[in-house]
Amino acid sequence: MHVGDDVVLRYITRDGRPGMSWAARLVDDRADVVALFLPRGTPHKRWAHTSGGRALADTAWSTDTLRLMHPRQPYSIWLSWGDAGAFRGYYVNLEEPFRRTPIGFDTNDHQLDIVVTPDLRWSMKDENVVAERERDGSFSAEFLAELRRHADRAVGSIERRDPPFDGSWLAWRPDHSWPTPTLHPRWNVEPPMQWERRMWADPRASEAAASESG
Ligand SMILES: [Mg+2]
Repeated sequence: MHVGDDVVLRYITRDGRPGMSWAARLVDDRADVVALFLPRGTPHKRWAHTSGGRALADTAWSTDTLRLMHPRQPYSIWLSWGDAGAFRGYYVNLEEPFRRTPIGFDTNDHQLDIVVTPDLRWSMKDENVVAERERDGSFSAEFLAELRRHADRAVGSIERRDPPFDGSWLAWRPDHSWPTPTLHPRWNVEPPMQWERRMWADPRASEAAASESG
């Protein structure tokens, strides 16, 4: 993978399969940060609910988004711009630290998010969803405590104006000659790189694995 290439960003589900996935353009790849650009219209596979459960359906990403991912960090930070190019703010997406694959990057969402306005007012999003995951046993209490610590750490970073909240990426602009990224044909067959702590985080994943191996 090289800067300028189209890559695939995948959320790997607890049963070890590719779930929601996006095409993206790799726009920076350094030791401390990987930057992916997802322009409005980027191909995106998202869950659609059907009578038989859920299935991945084709859709298009709605907003120009730069996704900054730091190695071993439990969240990515997104910057988004509106149709007229106005900066709409940051979004802290709590997620598994990313893994590289031959076609892109694998992670999985951890439900909790932080919405940050351009003037750095922040609010937590989906705390109720996280609480429900605790009640139904799909997130362990230990994992949830860690998730909340990570969210608090991100809030500290926002309040201290650590990069990128210092505005250091605000001058970045996509090259408008770039074509829309295309989804790699192996997006759903390239073997997933799973998070090594998923069994600890998701008790149900470990139960499923135990019954499969038994
Ligand atoms: Mg999220």
